[in-house]
Amino acid sequence: MAEITLDNIAHCYLTTPKKESDYALRLIDNIWEDGGAYALLGPSGCGKTTLLNIISGLLTPSKGRVLFDGKDVTALPPEKRNIAQVFQFPVLYDTMTVFNNLAFPLKNRGFNKEDINKRVLDVAEILDLTDCLNKKAAGLSADAKQKISLGRGLVRKDVAAILFDEPLTVIDPQLKWQLRGKLKEVHEQLKLTFIYVTHDQMEALTFADKVIVMYEGAIVQIGTPQELFENPSHKFVGYFIGSPGMNFLPCTLNGNKAMINNIGIELDDRTAALGEKSTGTLELGIRPLYLEVHPEEVENSFPTQVKSIEDLGSYKIITADLSGNTLRAILPEGKDIFSENAWLRFPKSWIRLFANDRLLTHQG
Ligand code: ATP
Repeated sequence: MAEITLDNIAHCYLTTPKKESDYALRLIDNIWEDGGAYALLGPSGCGKTTLLNIISGLLTPSKGRVLFDGKDVTALPPEKRNIAQVFQFPVLYDTMTVFNNLAFPLKNRGFNKEDINKRVLDVAEILDLTDCLNKKAAGLSADAKQKISLGRGLVRKDVAAILFDEPLTVIDPQLKWQLRGKLKEVHEQLKLTFIYVTHDQMEALTFADKVIVMYEGAIVQIGTPQELFENPSHKFVGYFIGSPGMNFLPCTLNGNKAMINNIGIELDDRTAALGEKSTGTLELGIRPLYLEVHPEEVENSFPTQVKSIEDLGSYKIITADLSGNTLRAILPEGKDIFSENAWLRFPKSWIRLFANDRLLTHQG
């Protein structure tokens, strides 16, 4: 297990970069804790695989250093970094039995027979592979093959980290849930450093203790699922996490009110003070889960026109218009809206202010 330090890392695939956008990774300066379960989450092309390959040693960064437990490994190839990797598609030996595939990484490193047997049986049990240990990998389904790949990653306890690059892509949706749960269990048992790349927020939020959100070659926030949901540090995190994403309304400040055209939404003193100090372009953000929709007027509510209602079984998504802005709200089970005319209420404790796309906080 290792603490991983990314010391001012940047990477460009071009030999002569001319502008910032030529960099696949712009500037990453972070320490990831020993034994943490991290998910690297972001849209296609944001640099997740580039960063993972820099950590594994498949790629040398254009700038900066990678340290494992304080030791500079930037120039070391993957085989000298003592890491395990699980890729999107199964990597295994088709002609070997499942047992021998799982045992291979241990045999290769000279573990004794007894230790190998014990470890292979443990991992096979975790991944429900016990019944097929004596079968050749060739005849197995894509799911089973990917489970073997996962097993080959998990079989060594002595690794600095296990890197997973979208490992559940080929797995059937039902089994995905199970395997994600298994990975979490394994992490809790072994406390190895897990780094899991995905563009699927559900996968990231259910797997990781800390989610690292990437956008355009940079890390925009590292936080627990709750921190990302309640206090997204950047508008991108607000959009990307949560379904539907956070609502944003351009606003100006008038005393304790955020003005959306001629509508004044009351803020708590703390939030208003943050807005007052800021010089940037202001926006009010609120999660659809916290925006209240009422069939009748309630205190501090604003009339709105409901444009659509999507019924998703256990809840509904309301799309409504407020002074020319489209907003989404989640209506919990048991509540309903029967007419186009409804009232929106913005609970003060869930209102966030953003300036130039960044969350305003007291930490600065
Ligand atoms: P995805 O989820 O689609 O795999 P990603 O977040 O992993 O995307 P990367 O694959 O790291 O993103 O790509 C980051 C940027 O670097 C993209 O603009 C991509 O086109 C570019 N890129 C990636 N690999 C190479 C390469 N070998 N040569 C040139 N450009 C590359």
